[in-house]
Order: sequence, then C-alpha cells, then structure tokens
Amino acid sequence: MMSADSLRGTSELLSGWGNYPRELCRTRSIESWQDAENAVQSSNTTNVIPRGLGRSYGDSTLTQDGVVLRMGHLNRFLAFDPESGVLECEAGVSFAEIIETFLPQGWFLPTTPGTKFVTLGGAIAADVHGKNHHVDGSFGNFVNRLTLLLADGAIIDCTRDNDPDLFWATVGGMGLTGVILSAQIQLSRVETAYCDVTYRRTRNLESTLEMFTATHQSYRYSVSWIDCLAKGASLGRGVVMLGNDASAADLPRKLAAAPLKLPRRRAKTIPFDFPSFALNPWSIKAFNTLYYAKNRDRREFVDFNSFFYPLDGINHWNRIYGQRGFVQYQALFPTETAHVGLHQLLERIAKSRQASFLAVIKGSGPATQGMLSYLFPGITLALDFPNRGKATRDLFEQLDEIVLEHSGRLYLAKDALTSADTFARMYPRLSEFQRVKERVDPNNRFVSSQARRLGIVTGLELNQSEAVGNSISAGAH
Ligand SMILES: Cc1cc2nc3c(=O)[nH]c(=O)nc-3n(C[C@H](O)[C@H](O)[C@H](O)COP(=O)(O)OP(=O)(O)OC[C@H]3O[C@@H](n4cnc5c(N)ncnc54)[C@H](O)[C@@H]3O)c2cc1C
Repeated sequence: MMSADSLRGTSELLSGWGNYPRELCRTRSIESWQDAENAVQSSNTTNVIPRGLGRSYGDSTLTQDGVVLRMGHLNRFLAFDPESGVLECEAGVSFAEIIETFLPQGWFLPTTPGTKFVTLGGAIAADVHGKNHHVDGSFGNFVNRLTLLLADGAIIDCTRDNDPDLFWATVGGMGLTGVILSAQIQLSRVETAYCDVTYRRTRNLESTLEMFTATHQSYRYSVSWIDCLAKGASLGRGVVMLGNDASAADLPRKLAAAPLKLPRRRAKTIPFDFPSFALNPWSIKAFNTLYYAKNRDRREFVDFNSFFYPLDGINHWNRIYGQRGFVQYQALFPTETAHVGLHQLLERIAKSRQASFLAVIKGSGPATQGMLSYLFPGITLALDFPNRGKATRDLFEQLDEIVLEHSGRLYLAKDALTSADTFARMYPRLSEFQRVKERVDPNNRFVSSQARRLGIVTGLELNQSEAVGNSISAGAH
C-alpha cells in the first residue's frame, strides 16, 4: 500500500540540461507499469509530466503544481528479433543501454541525437533527429508501436494505423498525450562501430551551405561546426564533417580485428559549476579560432562514440556555464530562406557580443507527420548561450523575429524562452494537436511548465486554481 507522501512525491529543485529555469517540483520514481498507473490516477495531484534523463534543455520536464514522473527505472528490454532488428523495450531504456547491448550484435540506432544519455520515451516525445536527418528523417520514422498510458488510466496499443492522430500527436508531443510505457522500434544494421569521416574547412556560410548541397547525396551523415564569432567575409566559416558507416572491408587492419567493439573512452568530469567569468567573449573567441585552425582537411575512421557523442566524453559539461545555466537557440529555416535567414541570425549574434561556445549547423530532409515535430526540409542551426538574464531574453526576441520573418521555427527540446505567440506562429498544426489532447486528456492531466508557457495546453484556469491548494498543502509537508 502506498503512503500519501509517496503518492505526492518528494520535492526537488529541478531543471533541464541547461540548468535554466530551475523549479521546485515534486518528483516520483516510476518502477513499474502499475506504479505509473497509480501516479496518473492519484487524486493527490492535479497534473503529471514524465521525465526521462532530463537532456532536454528547458522546462519541458518541470511542472510546479504537479508531479514529475521519473521514468529512468522503467528500463527492461522486452523482445528482440535478431533477424529483422526489431526491438521492443520499456520507455526508460537509454540509447546508451541499447548500444551497449545490440552494437556487439551488429545493430545500431537508426538515428541518434548528440548524446546517448536519452531515454527511448524522451527520444520519441521529442521526435529527435541526428546527423542523418537529410537521408533518414527523425526518430518517429522508426517507431512501429507505442504502449501508452492515458489520463483515464487506460493502457493502449497505439500505431500509425490504429490511431494515426494519437500516434502523431505523441511522436514529438513532449509527454502531453500520456506516458509512453514501451515502444517497438526498428534498429539499423551496421558492420562496424566506425564511420568513415571526411573533414572540410569552409571559408564562410556560402561555402558551408554549398558543401551540404554538393555532398548530401553521397554521405549519410553530415554536420558542421560554425565559428559564430567570425564576421564579415568569414561569417559562417566552419568545419564540415561528412560521414558514412564504415564497412568491415574498409577498416584498417588494427581496427578490423574487432570491428564492432568501441574503443574504451575514459570520461572526464567537470566537478563543479564554473564561475561566470570563465566563459567570456575572449575565452570563447580563443577556442573558436583554435578549433578552426586545428581542423585541417582530412579523412579518418572515427568510432561511433567520438563521432556521434563527442560531448558525452565530458561528464556534466553543462556546468561550464556556471550557476545561472545556459539556454540553447536551435532555429530551422526552410531551404528557400535558409541562406538569408542564417546570415541575418549570425550577423545579429556576432554583433550582440553574446558569444556562443558551441554552434552546430546541419541539413534536414522530409518531415515526419508529428504534429509538433520540429524538422522539415531546410537547415538548422543550434547555439548555446550563457544565461545573462534580460540581455539574453532581449537577444532571443530579436532572433525570433528573424526566424519568423523567414518562416522558420524553434525546437521544443531546446526551448526555454519562446513566447506563446511566437510558438503558435511557428507551429501551424498546434490546433490539430490540441484537438487530440482534448480527446485523450480533457482535464489536462499531463502538463509541463513549457506547455503552460507556450500555451500548448489550454483551459488551465480551473486546474491552476485547484493546484494552488495542492502546492500549499505540499509546502506544508
Ligand atoms: C548534448 C546534447 C545533444 C543533443 N543533441 C540533439 C540532437 O542532435 N538532436 C535532437 O533531436 N536532440 C538533441 N538533444 C536533445 C535530446 O535528444 C532531447 O531533449 C531528448 O528528448 C532527451 O531525452 P530524455 O530522455 O532526456 O528526455 P527528457 O529531457 O527527460 O524529456 C523530454 C520530453 O520527453 C517527455 N518524455 C520523457 N519520457 C517520456 C515518456 N516515457 N512518455 C512520454 N513522454 C516522455 C518529457 O515529458 C519531455 O517533454 C541533445 C541534448 C543534449 C544534452
């Protein structure tokens, strides 16, 4: 029998990967399907939101008036067909666990974000994409089936055929339609744990974009680091990385002996939040200049960890941004407006002197049918900014105007500051999503702080006044 306190959860100061915003939330660890059902049905709370490994940057896994459901312990593999590569597992299984188990058998993720410390549930809810989006699209393309726990406690099997609206509202739906308990996905066959990678330095934005266009047909993976402090004729210069899965026959002899084995990598750790002066325009400029100079044109075999997850080699790297945290700006422009839009965006950023330490650009291909999924054919640029309060908010507002003017949009998994009005203009299928939400969750059981801020969830007035009593009683315990 659960105690009232365990149903209410424990209070924690919680944030996403950007460490901004931080909110005092109640959290509850979900250990079984029954546990998830109890949490969703509990009368002790007005709303809930699932959380995987908290790798989304902003407030999509926070909810001040409800309970955050930690899904990481729901992590059993349920079934695997070694002939077809079809895998069924619980939603808390991480990509790291999938790789560890199935890469030695010659199977890898069909697409993957820049960290493997994400859960299957979080990857589906954000409809994540990888360096192969221009060829393979986003993760939703590889999901066959979902087991979904709905607000009324029903556990249903959801596919793109039996309820396409609910399926495509859940893929990319940021946890707002229900709890994904498990999913069946298609893995991708690989002969080795290596990519054959070509590095090309580019002089400016034009040559970076031209490089994408010229190579998209011949490389499954492509991405470019951009020096976002470069100005004038060098604006948008970068290092483009172009890769294909290496075949066993391609590998040099010393790697061919164990082609599916990842080399050991000893992760370094950032032990504490850096002081705010550590990252400043000068240190960032020095890094950018050095990185550009160091990366000469070359071709090499790179193991999957180093190619797909370079940042995972440094534990808690988000601490370098200090106590105030950081915010990411990930903008997507349609192919037709990408050049002008990106140019204006980079110029605005270079002028603002709010330097970005990491800036990454990549091409995207056809969209999934996810109603709130992010990508469509075009170019996406992601930049990290130290959180400087009002200065950062003002800059983001100016960047939003440029993105809107060029029919672009921002990515929900990275957003922390977008306004409801801006969001609605960027996501034309919002009302379609809201109709599905109303059908499966009429009383708004699933709500995140992000969904409130962006106005994704409507009709919250009643819930909010109910929630006041709830948070006061939680505070009293
Ligand atoms: C270093 C780094 C690199 C990244 N690179 C990329 C990239 O290249 N491409 C990309 O697309 N993304 C990228 N991301 C973002 C990341 O892939 C997504 O934010 C992903 O959703 C994180 O997974 P998670 O398990 O941590 O989910 P969380 O961050 O915990 O949750 C994300 C959303 O999923 C929902 N959710 C989580 N579990 C469930 C569940 N079981 N049922 C229903 N809803 C659920 C949550 O409510 C929330 O709305 C990157 C993040 C980092 C930190």
